[in-house]
Amino acid sequence: MVQLTELVSYADDLLEVDRFSDYCPNGLQVEGRAAVGKLVSGVTASLALIEAAIGAGADAIVVHHGYFWRGEDARVTGMKKQRLRRLLDSDTSLLAYHLPLDAHPLYGNNAQLGEQLGLVVEGRFGSAGDPAIGLHGRLARPASASDFARHVAQVLGRRPLLVAGAGDEALIDTVAWCSGAAQGYIEQAVALGVDAYLTGEISEQTVHVARECGIQFIAAGHHATERYGARALGRHLAANFSLEHEFIDIDNPA
Ligand SMILES: [Zn+2]
Repeated sequence: MVQLTELVSYADDLLEVDRFSDYCPNGLQVEGRAAVGKLVSGVTASLALIEAAIGAGADAIVVHHGYFWRGEDARVTGMKKQRLRRLLDSDTSLLAYHLPLDAHPLYGNNAQLGEQLGLVVEGRFGSAGDPAIGLHGRLARPASASDFARHVAQVLGRRPLLVAGAGDEALIDTVAWCSGAAQGYIEQAVALGVDAYLTGEISEQTVHVARECGIQFIAAGHHATERYGARALGRHLAANFSLEHEFIDIDNPA
């Protein structure tokens, strides 16, 4: 058991939330009971995850995608009401870490994704201002675009979308990656001079950039690329405070 306040302040410090100007509040988003014995981690605080976590006896849930995004309708109605009501009725806390969880060098989505895929980290890249969340480095051994895409499919359990802008025969040695909807970083990946760029999502224009700049592009799924950060964070918090922990994966094809 740990006091919620202690758990939150530890996680906030660990993830250095003050260094980010994010689109949502990071840390405790919905306050539940004061003591936490069981923690559930998940990618998104959807109603399905909340129900599953309550069913599993969670005192607190930690996610990557929480609530209260900048620009959203602030009213507590409809879907938002249902989610908040289940949390509040069951006295379950919600902790959410967005950009700080993408960025963390050990438990972050990108660090964990690189580890899953066997990538060697050589540096970081991303938007100016906030700490850079993307990573770049190398494949364990150079591979063709289709071989690398097959490897990604095997590890993530989901077939990625490959745009072999450099042609399928060109070997990938260097790679940049950023989980989620970071397709807009493809130009930065081109500027880095890497052979391939991997992210979660794709836009129409991403295809043209890949083809015309000659970079191998892989969209491996927003959910699939962000499945590992919250789980790693949950495991770490549980080990640190001797909590019970369970990662609940609510599958999402996007
Ligand atoms: Zn995301």
